[in-house]
Amino acid sequence: MKIFDVIIVGSGIGGLSLALKLTRKNPNIQIALLTKTNALESNTRYAQGGIAAVLNTISDSFESHINDTLASGGNYCKPDVVEMVVKNAPKEIYELINWGVQFDKAGKGELDAALEGGHEHPRVVHCKDQTGFEVVATLLEQVRTNKNISLTTHLLVTDILLDEAQNAKGVWVYNEITQQLETITACYTVLATGGCGQLFENTTNPKPATGDGYAIAKRAGAQLQHMNFMQLHPTALYTETDKHTSFLISEALRGYGAYVVDESGKRFLFDDDIRGELATRDIVSNAINKHITKTHTNCVYLDVRHLPSDELEIHFPAITQKLVSLGYRLDVDLIPIIPSAHYQSGGVKVNVNGQTNITNLYALGEVACTGLHGKNRLASNSLLEALVFADQICNHMLNRQQDITQKETHPYSCKQPVIVDYAWVKPKIKTIKKWMSKCCISQDKLTIDAGSTYMKLVKQLTQSILENNMFSVELMQLHNMATTAEIMLHDLLTYQSLNQTNNTAQPHHKVL
Ligand SMILES: Cc1cc2nc3c(=O)[nH]c(=O)nc-3n(C[C@H](O)[C@H](O)[C@H](O)COP(=O)(O)OP(=O)(O)OC[C@H]3O[C@@H](n4cnc5c(N)ncnc54)[C@H](O)[C@@H]3O)c2cc1C
Repeated sequence: MKIFDVIIVGSGIGGLSLALKLTRKNPNIQIALLTKTNALESNTRYAQGGIAAVLNTISDSFESHINDTLASGGNYCKPDVVEMVVKNAPKEIYELINWGVQFDKAGKGELDAALEGGHEHPRVVHCKDQTGFEVVATLLEQVRTNKNISLTTHLLVTDILLDEAQNAKGVWVYNEITQQLETITACYTVLATGGCGQLFENTTNPKPATGDGYAIAKRAGAQLQHMNFMQLHPTALYTETDKHTSFLISEALRGYGAYVVDESGKRFLFDDDIRGELATRDIVSNAINKHITKTHTNCVYLDVRHLPSDELEIHFPAITQKLVSLGYRLDVDLIPIIPSAHYQSGGVKVNVNGQTNITNLYALGEVACTGLHGKNRLASNSLLEALVFADQICNHMLNRQQDITQKETHPYSCKQPVIVDYAWVKPKIKTIKKWMSKCCISQDKLTIDAGSTYMKLVKQLTQSILENNMFSVELMQLHNMATTAEIMLHDLLTYQSLNQTNNTAQPHHKVL
């Protein structure tokens, strides 16, 4: 029987970097790294732009990165966390380079830094327009050869295993091979389960982003916060066909000079903010949604016709290849775009060490709410947050070393569950997406109330089915989606009524 010190749920940048950091600092540690699909598939894999870090203190400064992050996140940021993350960024970039990540270089060997929306200076290090893929592939290579890390794929974690004192002591998992629910125990458990973009019709997030971690944490009694701050990315490719995920056209393209225009070619963003295309995501997304509603159109456009095509191909090979494969000629055509659900800025509330309010349970990466992003994450601060907080968690766990003693486990298997058909689940997922998108656009109380009622119904229904020993991965994910959606809508209503009570003249931002 395998016994673990630490269970990490999720193989994105958060889970992978934490596992490597722990084994580097404690060569005897035993880690279970669990993930519900193949190990590559995650939000991290699709990150294009890069990682924000001040590497040149002559042309840039920590102060500027801190100010940009605070300006984007508003007074929901925790200034001490912002400062800690920004100041630790360079160290994390050099650690990635040591692990083998090949960032793009400029001129004399220094790293190339790109400019992105909301940043005062160019400071986003990148691997062309496939930074996430390069990072996750490199870290996975290290993990696969590390004898202290046991990586299990296609294993859905369903819940946190709690002891009598309600402390975390591992996880419940669904074993697809035996079709049984089982437990795995460890001293410490870390949720690094990513985001929840799949709750919406238009999203840049891949299929696994069903918000499992938020629902799992909630059921265990963990505190969540600011779940209404779902960030929209302004420039996802618009298509009329049904799809799981919208193709993202990186912010870096706007940093490189692309315009956002309407059908007539007008750069309308300046009507809302003097920074135009380089304003923060919430401002650009809101301006686009407003324009779409006002003009009764389905989308607006990205215009790169004035930029040299050969240079675009060098800097953004994946994006240009994708667009060309879809028939767009970049020097001639406008590219249709629409704001899409992109990043959950809220999440499971953690302290500066990544600890939740449940003893021995940590949360890391997009699933966590650390206080860095506030109401609106600054571009390319997310991969950075995961790396810095992986370091915080690693140090915190290892300083509690007296606790890391491998405990004997007593796996418990429940009766074999009866499988629930996907045909039953699918239409309910579609309806959740419809409601969440509608609530997100309208922000109207009656709509949100009706959406919440639907989420409650689905949550209760799926819960009673699960309690009757019926199961499927899709049913569990549906249960998690309804639970997470209900929390988001609840937080949105609370946010709205607080704002009304305070009568503060906050700009209306169309994050959910
Ligand atoms: C298209 C796109 C572009 C982006 N570009 C950038 C960028 O340029 N810069 C930046 O900073 N950020 C960017 N982001 C955001 C960033 O990629 C993510 O926030 C970050 O990668 C999240 O990392 P993570 O480790 O927290 O989660 P993820 O990378 O999403 O990993 C989550 C993992 O948890 C697993 N999991 C989930 N639920 C379960 C369960 N129940 N059981 C078992 N396993 C589970 C998943 O399978 C997955 O392995 C982008 C996001 C997208 C979608």
